[in-house]
Amino acid sequence: MTELPSRRLMLVHAHPDDESINNGATMARYAAEGAHVTLVTCTLGERGEVIPPGLRHLSGAALGGHRLGELREAMRALGVTDFRLLGGAGRYCDSGMMGLPDNDDPGCFWQADVDQAAGMLAEVILEVRPQILVTYDENGGYGHPDHIRTHRVAMRAVELAAGAGWDVPKVYWNRVPRSVAEESFARLHGDLAELPFEKAGAVDDVPGVVDDAQVTTAVDGTAYAAAKAAAMRAHATQITVAEPYFVLSNELAQPLFTTEYYELVRGERPGSRESDLFAGIGDGEAS
Ligand SMILES: [Zn+2]
Repeated sequence: MTELPSRRLMLVHAHPDDESINNGATMARYAAEGAHVTLVTCTLGERGEVIPPGLRHLSGAALGGHRLGELREAMRALGVTDFRLLGGAGRYCDSGMMGLPDNDDPGCFWQADVDQAAGMLAEVILEVRPQILVTYDENGGYGHPDHIRTHRVAMRAVELAAGAGWDVPKVYWNRVPRSVAEESFARLHGDLAELPFEKAGAVDDVPGVVDDAQVTTAVDGTAYAAAKAAAMRAHATQITVAEPYFVLSNELAQPLFTTEYYELVRGERPGSRESDLFAGIGDGEAS
């Protein structure tokens, strides 16, 4: 096996674009600081709504292929070279929004056998041996079936890997502190007239918003704001960026966070808020 850097961070996401929106600044920062950053994406987002009119003819596998190209470009922007599709590109397809008949597609990730998918992810964990794994909370942040499935598969894979020789010391869920979301939306409402967007979203539309006390970790990625914005722009079918804001296909403007927030759910909860995902990782865990 090739020698990996001593600090290794893995992120598990549902669709191409989720990594850049949630963790773009974190990924760029740790990659620049010499950590090994691994992204595992579970589907190609074949059922995503396409924003640019010139690309709306894309759907299904053609959209998935296009989004894989967007993901490559985003990873270039973030300086991340190790990114994979769970089980290989096209193994699981996008399940569509909750409640749609798409959810019954036998090839979709919502229908995936959790243990089977988790077994494939556990193999990647055993190969990379990350000290840190980042994913969503049990609601997938906002209730999308692929995000909920990603959560279950990632948490199960951590258990399976622990039983097979690599116990991931720290697992985090993506979070946004309520006070940060409220301040950001207040600023957004003030700026809206100047923006290329018509409408503003609301605090509770932001995935992972929780009471401040629940947030254990804040990673300041301000120095990597440009890389994060470039990565988000690379996902042009899904995102329109006007820094420090962006819209998805629902056209509701929301803040682009360059400090990214987390809740530690495996590992010893810190007494005060950490500023580094690797805080407390000793040399013994770094091999
Ligand atoms: Zn997603």
